[in-house]
Amino acid sequence: MDNLRRVKMAHLPTPVEPMPCLTRGLNGPRLFVKRDDQTGLALGGNKTRKLEFLLADALAAGAETLITAGAVQSNHCRQTAAAARRAGLACILVLSGEKPNQASGNLLLDQLLGAEIVWAARDTRDHVLSEAYVAAEEAGRRPYLIPYGGSNAVGAQGYVHAVEELMQQVNSGSVLPEPPDWIVFASSSGGTQAGLVLGAKLFNFPGKILAISVDEEQSVLQQRVAALASLAANLRGMTLAFESEQVLVNSDYLGGGYGILGEPEKEAISLFARCEGLLLDPVYTGRAAAGLIDLIRQGYFRRDELVLFWHTGGSPALFAQQYQTSLADQLV
Ligand SMILES: *Cc1c(COP(=O)(O)O)cnc(C)c1O
Repeated sequence: MDNLRRVKMAHLPTPVEPMPCLTRGLNGPRLFVKRDDQTGLALGGNKTRKLEFLLADALAAGAETLITAGAVQSNHCRQTAAAARRAGLACILVLSGEKPNQASGNLLLDQLLGAEIVWAARDTRDHVLSEAYVAAEEAGRRPYLIPYGGSNAVGAQGYVHAVEELMQQVNSGSVLPEPPDWIVFASSSGGTQAGLVLGAKLFNFPGKILAISVDEEQSVLQQRVAALASLAANLRGMTLAFESEQVLVNSDYLGGGYGILGEPEKEAISLFARCEGLLLDPVYTGRAAAGLIDLIRQGYFRRDELVLFWHTGGSPALFAQQYQTSLADQLV
């Protein structure tokens, strides 16, 4: 069943740690964190696990260039650039937005990693991406296309295995007193969630998997994740069809939209930092943590439950000019 190719790059298993100060301070359920901000690969994050499978697939296809797309501060693009370099491949990134005067945060790291950057307006990004792909192909550069966020059936396998890893940590009894009742995390392109949903089924995870949507309406993300989880199962030679209703998504925390750092995110970032010494990010984990905090305050979880916040990384974006300025103003 498990003959999927994989290039080992991640530092695994990632630690699971208690968050006693937040548990007390919020008078909430028992809170733990899964440290996928510590996966390694150019400062780590959830894309490392996906890229282990995507890079293996690319190498098997004889690729010489990885090509993908994302926002200016995309963690996925930064980590794809790093994965390409480790394997001796070139990397082309199609970034949406305007080229800033000075690179900072993830964009600075993209440049440091020697990625070739193509700029595109948000609404023409797909078109520019396929043009760049064709140009690379015609130039004999053997491009391999990785979708947004690395979220396809191949990339999702990384999070299928992450559930297996978590269940081993649960069963060892050394890091968690019992299996989590809930996993809470940030979801956007859906590959992380699809892998978790499929992995939960395959490895008998008994709890619930609750995504805080970063930028999509609930039903859109539910459908995307259900379809991706079904495809990811097919890739493993299994016929499993997931339905939207089996996918838990909360989209009450979209705030000002993708990448807009608002008050709830700022509060969550400073609370995690000051209480637990943990660094979140302005786009994904800051928003997911803000949702988690609000749900705890609303009494959504029982106090005897165990909630695992899955930290998906992203902290390099803290040093992107716009976020740095906004956070610094808040914290003086
Ligand atoms: C990409 C990303 C996510 C979202 O993961 P998806 O698989 O795209 O849903 C969450 N957190 C961080 C830090 C990310 O970079």
